[in-house]
Amino acid sequence: MPYEFNPIVKKWRRGFKRVALVYPNKYKGGIANIGLQKIYYEINALENYVCERFYSDVFNGFRSIETATPINEFDLALFSLQYEKDYFKAIEIAKKFKGIKIAGGPCVMENPMPLKDFFDYFFMGEIEGCKVEEIVELSWDDCRKGIYSGIEDKVERIKVKKLKDHLKEQIIGDGAYGRCVLLEIGRGCIRRCRFCIVRQIYSPVRWRDVSEIVEVAEENRKNVEKAALIAPSPTDHSRFKEIIQSLLDLNFRVSPSSLRADMVDRELVELLVKAKLESLTLAPEAGSERLRQILNKGISEEDIMNAVSLFSKKIKKVKLYFMVGLPSESYEDLDAIIELAKKVKSYVRNVTLSINPLVPKPHTPFQWLPFDVKKLKAKILYLKKELVKSRIKAEIADINEFAIQTALSRGDEKLCKFLAKQKIRVRDVGDYLKEIPINSELPWDFIDHGYKKRRLIREYEEVVSFITS
Ligand code: SF4
Repeated sequence: MPYEFNPIVKKWRRGFKRVALVYPNKYKGGIANIGLQKIYYEINALENYVCERFYSDVFNGFRSIETATPINEFDLALFSLQYEKDYFKAIEIAKKFKGIKIAGGPCVMENPMPLKDFFDYFFMGEIEGCKVEEIVELSWDDCRKGIYSGIEDKVERIKVKKLKDHLKEQIIGDGAYGRCVLLEIGRGCIRRCRFCIVRQIYSPVRWRDVSEIVEVAEENRKNVEKAALIAPSPTDHSRFKEIIQSLLDLNFRVSPSSLRADMVDRELVELLVKAKLESLTLAPEAGSERLRQILNKGISEEDIMNAVSLFSKKIKKVKLYFMVGLPSESYEDLDAIIELAKKVKSYVRNVTLSINPLVPKPHTPFQWLPFDVKKLKAKILYLKKELVKSRIKAEIADINEFAIQTALSRGDEKLCKFLAKQKIRVRDVGDYLKEIPINSELPWDFIDHGYKKRRLIREYEEVVSFITS
């Protein structure tokens, strides 16, 4: 049982309703999710409601972490779907539950169609855009336009213009960022990476004031000595260094959720070293400049090497994230991954690569691209051999798993029958992996995220003309 500080154990009394907050993956990820913690506190603050949490690795996801109460004794279950691979566990838990089931989270905002048979409602958007009472009482008012019950022709994601007050009192557990206070410094991303769904489903970009962040940190300082700075691209906060300095003044160790290579300079390195950052994680995504340009990543090899050289001798290890299966990718582009890793290794010996195939995600300009299992497997095989030759460590994705993930990400309700059996093979979903004709109607077109589809088409066509020019 995870050891945690500050959980709410609210006694259930006759007349109270029980709400299950289900994170169908490990505790480590669930406790590091500030949005879920906020919902948990808000529901427990309601007079006649008790909210308890469920994680896949605590009682196998069927009993609550607080009181070990079985899921079927709850009145309502809220599921948070962060990754397509979580669908299987979510459905296993959902099948045991007879009450009303509502699903939310990024996968729902992306495309809920493969999950249609398993939940009563899908909530699309930010819960701060409506009152939590509306959700638990199923009395849609402010959030009506963001609810999908399976019949609506159009659903509009609920957004908030300005972030609401940050959660002050937090549960401190051993989460993905370690034992720390979670500080959400911003939401949404100013960048336009073409493979990334964050730019669409968390728009607009919103940042928190330094004073608010420091106030939350200060309140939690007595309970914890580490702070995690959370945002899709935290270094884009205009006062990022000031935030770190303020946290250092409070004697915190600081860990940002990610760093962009082009934002690293000597001053930032000094601050992060003082904040006890031990390893550097960067996401070049591709080995060659040409592919990074296609991705619209906005960082160059010079940026990457500059960041690594500034951190060398100050950190113990470097992790680099890459993707394969990018549009127009050749074997020379794969060689460029190895070459870049070797260059980084000449500065920091302990280098690990994480290599995943590109998942052509809904709502991105890459949503029409194919996922070619055969070609990807050949590329991964090639990379594995080259990595061994060059003695570079790597975590390499299983292509079949990502093929299923791609199908679930851009599939339709026909996939429900496979999910119901808890078994999907790549050969079952071949049709969902093919290139999609640009003028097709897509299963997720009914979700209004506030962007125009023709803008995505334009971007896709720009990529095609760049490749063919
Ligand atoms: S990949 Fe990162 S920097 Fe690029 S749009 Fe997504 S969140 Fe922003």
